[in-house]
Amino acid sequence: MGQLFHEARKRLRQAAKFLDLDPDVLEKLKYPKETLAASLLVRMDDGSRRSFKAWRCRYDDTRGPTKGGIRYHPAVCLDEVMALAFWMTFKCAVVNLPYGGAKGGVAVDTNQLSKSELERLSRAYVRAFANFIGPDRDIPAPDMYTNAMTMGWMADEFSTIVGQPSPAVITGKPLQLGGSLGRDDATGRGGYYVLRHLERDLRLSPDKSRVIVQGFGNVGYHGARMLHADGYRIVGLSDSQSALYAADGLDPIAVMEHKKRTGSIRGAMGHGRAQELTNKALLEQECDILIPAAMENQIDAQNAQNIQARVILELANGPITPGGDQVLNHRGVTVIPDILANAGGVTVSYFEWVQNKAGYYWPLTDIHSRLKQGMEPEARRVWDIRLEKEIDMRTAAYVHALDRIAAAVTAHGGKAYFCS
Ligand code: GLU
Repeated sequence: MGQLFHEARKRLRQAAKFLDLDPDVLEKLKYPKETLAASLLVRMDDGSRRSFKAWRCRYDDTRGPTKGGIRYHPAVCLDEVMALAFWMTFKCAVVNLPYGGAKGGVAVDTNQLSKSELERLSRAYVRAFANFIGPDRDIPAPDMYTNAMTMGWMADEFSTIVGQPSPAVITGKPLQLGGSLGRDDATGRGGYYVLRHLERDLRLSPDKSRVIVQGFGNVGYHGARMLHADGYRIVGLSDSQSALYAADGLDPIAVMEHKKRTGSIRGAMGHGRAQELTNKALLEQECDILIPAAMENQIDAQNAQNIQARVILELANGPITPGGDQVLNHRGVTVIPDILANAGGVTVSYFEWVQNKAGYYWPLTDIHSRLKQGMEPEARRVWDIRLEKEIDMRTAAYVHALDRIAAAVTAHGGKAYFCS
């Protein structure tokens, strides 16, 4: 068993200590329900064929069809896909979506593929997994290095295979192909709603608190943009190539314009107005709120000692290792965990799926208000569990999710029912 999945499961066992669980529950959640591996043979532009490793893991479907993104990244492996599918199971339960969890991935560096190669790869993925996914079975969505267009190609391929338009098989599609308004910024927005809702409890305020965002892709950008618009000072931003720190504050919109023009945030503030650092060094700069919005395993037991933020909002999946968690908890840093903080994306994915099934599309104001109404009470509940049980917020979020999953598992009757 790989390290990431092993560590993901540790968090489950940790949470289980705070609930009186039927033994059936942990047994059911021990391994993924099913995982499929395939190799995708793709015709490249130069006429040759290349083979790419691909996976899809459906972790658990007790609470409904499985849901989760597809990631394109050179480091994608089975261990990571399983861990991410596990996290999706808990994420959907934290915010009470009628879904289980899944994840998919392809080991590929998208920078080395042309646009048409990427389209062929995406269509090949759907052909390989066509019997595994489905609108009432397993519903993919975007993740790292996949986007609305990727989802559009995939929905189109699936519709061709089944012989009819089938938009509900995948979410995060372009608007014109049955996508939902508000899906593009939903992950950042969900985290923003959670943070603002808990602001007083966390002793934060827009006029005093400074923010660093690691990762300036879709998620990090929108999170930074919304906090900036409310008056929070964004003092640090980074992308995969560079990091900027400016005690006076950065304007995320201007930095994004520069990134779109030049391909990087490097030099976005002009000479001398921002310090250029490494991605790693940025995490340790002075701020009140740190938002990791890039990759897993960014904060471990070592650099956790040097983090200056009081609050960490995890917009990425799994950015803190269990060792990092321990150090941060010990140092009194509050971590708002990924399965709560970044659940806005899958929540609006759920809205998209509902709209596809109903054939009736909602205005943006409805999406925003439903997202807010969906996330705030769950954030409050996690906060309350944290206080009631005197545990960290991550464990509290797992307790909250596990309680819901357990209720569904035992609704068929558990050991307690059959032995009494
Ligand atoms: N990939 C996103 C996540 O990790 C979104 C998943 C979805 O919308 O299904 O939450």
